Amino acid sequence: MSRVPAAKHAACVALGANIGEPMRQIEEGFAALAALPETRLLARSSLYCSAPVGYADQPDFINAVAMIETALGPHELLAALLAVERAHGRVRDFPNAPRTLDLDIVLYGDLVLHEPGLTIPHARMLERAFVMVPLAEIAPDAQVPGRGRVSELAARLDADSVAQLQRMPA
Ligand code: AMP
Repeated sequence: MSRVPAAKHAACVALGANIGEPMRQIEEGFAALAALPETRLLARSSLYCSAPVGYADQPDFINAVAMIETALGPHELLAALLAVERAHGRVRDFPNAPRTLDLDIVLYGDLVLHEPGLTIPHARMLERAFVMVPLAEIAPDAQVPGRGRVSELAARLDADSVAQLQRMPA
């Protein structure tokens, strides 16, 4: 009997890194997303630089956002992202600590999920220019469920707090 293919969902993943070789680690993050099972990398933003939030005594961050199409469910996707983070040597010392590679699910289709270990849309995305500005670059028309259009939500933030480093390839 043939297997019914799992439904595919568009999801957006935020990438961040600020120790080691952050640009290389973000590139490896994109490659790791493209290599996830039943997943395709649809779009990648430029790289951006932002000052650390919360714990200021650490290097600036390199940030980016990827859009993927995946048949992984939201919990499977989170588990896969945590495995990629671990493979890149991330150690969770304390909240907002420096990180070799941080991967967060920002959007997963139009899903709204509030569970102890997983909140979608990401709980702090709307206040983070380093998420919303790269997201608006690749998905300006995407909807944040219940909140509105990405480009309009991004326009409310201080775009000067993130610097675009490298334009996305044409
Ligand atoms: P952090 O890497 O500091 O952003 O925190 C990671 C933890 O946040 C993970 O272990 C998840 O359990 C939890 N979490 C909750 N919502 C999300 C989300 N949308 N994407 C990634 N991690 C999430």
